[in-house]
Amino acid sequence: MDIRPHVDAIAQHMAAILAVFRVPTSALFDANHEEIVRLEEVLNLKSAIDNATTYAADLAGAGQLVGSRRTVDFFIEKMGLSRRDALQRMRNAQLAFSMADPHSGNGREDDDHSPTLSSEKRTIITQELGRLCDKAAAEKERIYHESIHEAAERSPEDLRHWMRTRIRKANAHYPTDTDPFADIRKRRFMIQRPDADGGAYFSGYLPRAELAVMESLLAPSKRPGHLLGTAAKNDKRSLTQRRFDAFAQMIRQHSWTHTQRSGLASVVLSLTSEDVDDVTDATSLLHHRYATNTGVELSPLDVLRLGSAKYHYVVVHDADTGDPLHVGRAERLATPFQRIALLARDFCCTHPGCDQPATQCDAHHMESWFSGGPTDIENLTLLCRCHHMSNNDARNGAGNRGYADRDPDTGTIGYRPPPTHENPHPGLQVNTTVRASQSAKNRIRRRKRMTPSTRLRC
Ligand SMILES: [Zn+2]
Repeated sequence: MDIRPHVDAIAQHMAAILAVFRVPTSALFDANHEEIVRLEEVLNLKSAIDNATTYAADLAGAGQLVGSRRTVDFFIEKMGLSRRDALQRMRNAQLAFSMADPHSGNGREDDDHSPTLSSEKRTIITQELGRLCDKAAAEKERIYHESIHEAAERSPEDLRHWMRTRIRKANAHYPTDTDPFADIRKRRFMIQRPDADGGAYFSGYLPRAELAVMESLLAPSKRPGHLLGTAAKNDKRSLTQRRFDAFAQMIRQHSWTHTQRSGLASVVLSLTSEDVDDVTDATSLLHHRYATNTGVELSPLDVLRLGSAKYHYVVVHDADTGDPLHVGRAERLATPFQRIALLARDFCCTHPGCDQPATQCDAHHMESWFSGGPTDIENLTLLCRCHHMSNNDARNGAGNRGYADRDPDTGTIGYRPPPTHENPHPGLQVNTTVRASQSAKNRIRRRKRMTPSTRLRC
């Protein structure tokens, strides 16, 4: 059972691929892009191999090869891994091999079912499972296998979001073991000593409620020209400089009562009337979470803390139809009310797999405004900067780019990919990320089974 010939073959082939790309050109990429993607998938097998070899190294007491009693030192000294990476590799392996295989029942490993899972996703699973409280440990194995299954179809960011939601749900059964005020206890604001230029670095920790307010107040500064009164193209500030200028403006204003009420710099919650009914006791007041346009999930208590500021918006949807506000105006720019309705309906970028929160998105006209598309809630959707710029407004398949579209029968909004020879009439691909599914509209639709359960296949 010698793996040497295999390692030799890999070394030879990797060197050959590197030689092909010694002078990288676009022609080389065009000729090989499908194989480049396949290479990434093949190399993901390395993380399954890492799990197995790391587990074996631990069984063999590999530390003694470098004069240590700890296996982790073998990886640090022989492979040049950082202590952090080496420990993470050990934790990933221990988790994978401590979980029973539901199919073979041999209690050994999961990897037959997820061999090409990247190490990034494996690490996310290990890290997030670590947040499961002790009393919920009986659920660990089930959540682990669920997350391996989910990981195959979710992006790393969405997988982390999915796991946090799943583990919070499991921990919620044992409210005494989780600290609902953990975020508030971590609140901090530090300013360092002034440096030679006279300014100072600062850092800190924002609890959920303040984080939501801060994100919503800083959101308008993502646009060049914010606060300058000048054309966007003349604004040479970086994004982080614009965010600071917006922050400085807040400090200058002193009183929150002067904050603009434009509908942009506001925290919008998307609730169903049942969400409100669900809050029946002190436990749910602390542990229930509502999704918001800022990507920060707030508890009912957080909402009450925000409520004292009076100027944020809560959109409660009709529990039967799921419809938010309907406003139709013949204006190019979405009105604040339309924007609030959009935030509540779409909740994040509607491109499949994207989980950029609403505060990072533009209101996009699906039927272009220039070709007569109305500024009507039915014709608007949220797209992040990246997907807004890639949208093919002409809908002509140019550049292999598709476009945001609305299913005329179901009202579902998604992405229509460009037609191909095999598929001249591609169907709508819907965003099924955790964040997208959190909007009240989607939860109501899901409950009523108004939309078929679609999942992005890519
Ligand atoms: Zn996006």
